Amino acid sequence: MKKGLLIVFSGPSGVGKGTILRELQKDERLKLVYSVSMTTRKPREGEVDGVNYFFVTKKRFKEAIKNNELLEYAEYVKNYYGTPRFFVEEQREKGNNVVLEIEVQGAKQIIEREKDIVSIFITPPSLEELEARIRGRKSGETDEIVEMRVNQAREELRNTSMYDHVICNDDLAKAIEDVRAVLLEEIEK
Ligand code: 5GP
Repeated sequence: MKKGLLIVFSGPSGVGKGTILRELQKDERLKLVYSVSMTTRKPREGEVDGVNYFFVTKKRFKEAIKNNELLEYAEYVKNYYGTPRFFVEEQREKGNNVVLEIEVQGAKQIIEREKDIVSIFITPPSLEELEARIRGRKSGETDEIVEMRVNQAREELRNTSMYDHVICNDDLAKAIEDVRAVLLEEIEK
């Protein structure tokens, strides 16, 4: 059986990555499975441990790094985020295509090190619109953290050249179809 692809899916906070993915997961042809990351950030309202993230302490995260449990990891806005290696390998061996919804530092590690990957970056129609979305989201985070996310988004938008595909989410339905087309093409290669 053909080993599944590793799909690196990035884009600044608030760009709509989650919405696009949720829609594409319904398409059985894509055989997408979502890799649940480990993070030290606190859960937002409605987030469920083991579904959105594995929420862990800094001590546990450091232990995971030390034991080589993570395929990649990065520090982002004062917290750590990383991809558990075991699930990714297990699913790819089964022929499923594993999606990593990760930021640019982690993406760089994957793009440099791994084989059979496809990388996609989602951009907002404009920085102003993105800033409004990040600020408008009721995340329960402090103004300082929200401001850091806005700055981080600006920085990420300067790092898109390493990705195979850059897709603009100015129209959600079109962005979904663009990502679907890229994935179908890569899967059939
Ligand atoms: P949030 O706090 O908004 O859920 O995530 C912040 C950023 O971290 C987002 O860009 C998200 O895609 C990214 N992220 C989530 N999980 C991981 C991971 O396992 N590794 C890396 N490098 N980034 C991640």
